[in-house]
Amino acid sequence: MALTKNLLFQKYVIENQTISDIAKETGYPKNRVKSVLRRFGIRKTKMKLGNELYDDREWLYEQYVVLNKGYTVIADELGVSYTVVRDRILFFGWKIRGHKDIDKGSARRGKKHTESALKKIRLSRIKKSRELECLHCSRIFERQNSSILRSSKNFCTAVCFRQYLKTNRIETVDITDSAEYKEWRKKVYIRDGYRCKMPGCNSNSRDIAAHHIYPKKKFPNKKFDLQNGITLCRKCHEDTYGKEEQFIDALVRVIQKMND
Ligand SMILES: [Zn+2]
Ligand SMILES: [Zn+2]
Repeated sequence: MALTKNLLFQKYVIENQTISDIAKETGYPKNRVKSVLRRFGIRKTKMKLGNELYDDREWLYEQYVVLNKGYTVIADELGVSYTVVRDRILFFGWKIRGHKDIDKGSARRGKKHTESALKKIRLSRIKKSRELECLHCSRIFERQNSSILRSSKNFCTAVCFRQYLKTNRIETVDITDSAEYKEWRKKVYIRDGYRCKMPGCNSNSRDIAAHHIYPKKKFPNKKFDLQNGITLCRKCHEDTYGKEEQFIDALVRVIQKMND
């Protein structure tokens, strides 16, 4: 077993194993494990979450999992160090995806930009940003285009985002808790044989969700319509996040075929 960065992260930070545990399991001497950990800069940090955007689990989930951005990209957009974002991704328990530029060590690693270069970078960032209105407090703020969510819901701070969720979540929680919803979901699963029905997906996974083909928010009258439900595996379901409408036609066809 090679002492790769990902393996050491997994064992040392996520699984919270000791250096001796890792040494025993991998067959390397303790000192070797220690020095490799140091070389990769892997530390056990007690995470203290503040009120920054990157401290918000749901915001980071959208960026890292749903929009599938690399943590270096997210860090660059926020103007913070890579480790700030990476540590949180690990803390929230998501897998670190490989980043060639990081693993190889970029040419600029450890070097400081000159003042004039920094100015250029700041200027180029401003050009790529846009003014938005916070959905919660209506404050006008600036955000880089690449960080603007496709859902068109934008918030000036994580605090506003959480406040918004608090006031808007009640509705969704009520839906998924209701007996009517659970019955609808069960009917969908039974009709689909508890398997993902996404065209092209052959997953046998039992990690499934009942997906609303026409989003329940925009089409509340279709909320408990069996014809509007389809079983998707977790992966396929996550693929639809934020772009539910792009999948409507294809999924409606699947249902029509079943009815024929
Ligand atoms: Zn706000
Ligand atoms: Zn699937």
